[in-house]
Amino acid sequence: MNTTSFANLPLSPAMLQNLDSLGYVEMTEIQAQSLPLILARRDLIAQAKTGSGKTAAFGIGMLHKLNPSYFAIQGLVICPTRELADQVAKELRRLARFTENIKILTLCGGTPMGPQIASLVHGAHIIVGTPGRLRDHLGRASIDLSTVQTLVLDEADRMVDMGFYDEIAGIVSACPTRRQTLLFSATYPDNIRKDSAKFLKLPAEVKVEAQH
Ligand code: ADP
Ligand code: MG
Repeated sequence: MNTTSFANLPLSPAMLQNLDSLGYVEMTEIQAQSLPLILARRDLIAQAKTGSGKTAAFGIGMLHKLNPSYFAIQGLVICPTRELADQVAKELRRLARFTENIKILTLCGGTPMGPQIASLVHGAHIIVGTPGRLRDHLGRASIDLSTVQTLVLDEADRMVDMGFYDEIAGIVSACPTRRQTLLFSATYPDNIRKDSAKFLKLPAEVKVEAQH
């Protein structure tokens, strides 16, 4: 068996079957490097260029750990833009297709608060959102992040560049201290290293160098 096959990971048969049906047979390099660490519940800083399959890396890890019969926010993904949040939610829904009902909700700016608050009353297992809107929900106490077990900072470099640091820090402080934190980024310059260090506990670091 090829050592970069998803089948070598301790994933559920349903997840493996789903990955197969999506045509995901071999792990991408960043997935092969990060998934064993993510499944071992390490905090992680993962750096790889756009298009390298980072969403499935954290998505598979998050879904693996999730308890579908516990209807509370167990996973939170923070993304820089609405477009990226929608893409992440779409990929998570594809990855969750064959598992028990898992509710994934996006919370981004540009849409009215009212319907989002109503959706939050109904609950979700996973939230994918942008920093400003998540902070607004926290400010109105319309979201409870105290049950988050997996926190993902996706495209962390872009979020810091866009000036979202304070919002992110506020959102992170509303999550339990006992959680797994995964930081994904295309680049990991010193300023982001310094700024984000306090969000992670003894993180493992993986990096896939650009090939060209
Ligand atoms: P990134 O976040 O690193 O920019 P994405 O997570 O958006 O990359 O993934 C890029 C594309 O690769 C998506 O279309 C996704 O469906 C596909 N993909 C991810 N993992 C695999 C895999 N193991 N095998 C085949 N395609 C994959
Ligand atoms: Mg991505």
